[in-house]
Amino acid sequence: MPTLTDWFPVALTGTVMDLSTMNPWCAKGVILLASLVMVVIRAPHGHRSRTVPVARSRKGSLELVLLTIAWAAFFLPLIWIAAPLFEFADYPLHPIPFLAGCLCLVLGLWLFHRSHADLGTNWSITLEVRDKHQLITHGVYRWVRHPMYAALLIYSAGQALVVPNWLVGPSYGVAIVLLIVLRLQPEERMMRDEFGKDYEAYTARTKRLIPGVW
Ligand code: SAH
Repeated sequence: MPTLTDWFPVALTGTVMDLSTMNPWCAKGVILLASLVMVVIRAPHGHRSRTVPVARSRKGSLELVLLTIAWAAFFLPLIWIAAPLFEFADYPLHPIPFLAGCLCLVLGLWLFHRSHADLGTNWSITLEVRDKHQLITHGVYRWVRHPMYAALLIYSAGQALVVPNWLVGPSYGVAIVLLIVLRLQPEERMMRDEFGKDYEAYTARTKRLIPGVW
């Protein structure tokens, strides 16, 4: 089986390879910026949610575990940027996955912002019903019932594509899939108990994460 070096001199092959790989600091810069934007989007909502009393909470030990995993997975890329701890799993960064990943990060952050804006004071980091909680079915909640989780999934796909590290790249995706798998049903049960027929009607006309699919 002929290889690339059979057709091109080694020096030329080296040049071709160099053109198709990027400096990993491009990925590190993008992830740093994206993490910062995520914190900036969430911060005012986190701050405001502390001022709205919780009427009913379903924050059990599973929730604590899921939130801890999600936080740890959020910080992993920052550790990868700051220290050589995960260097053993690095691989070369290529422009096509990098650009596709950047697009996913932008789309994920936009949807993350829109879902926070539409939920308003009804947002909680965990399974809680707030005082005067309203069922939101407008804005991005008209498309799917869990646009914030969809945003986190799109963001984590972006991270997996941008971060050239087999361990750190997919880590946020693993945490978010776990969160979705274990939280979606209890959350929908809580919403059904709270809003009854209105939530039933909402579930009848919307899908969970992907419009028209699931
Ligand atoms: N699962 C949603 C919201 C995540 S935040 C999403 O992915 O977009 C979690 C909290 O949001 C829950 O504790 C619940 O109180 C609240 N919530 C979820 N869906 C809601 C809706 N349609 N209207 C109002 N509050 C909602």
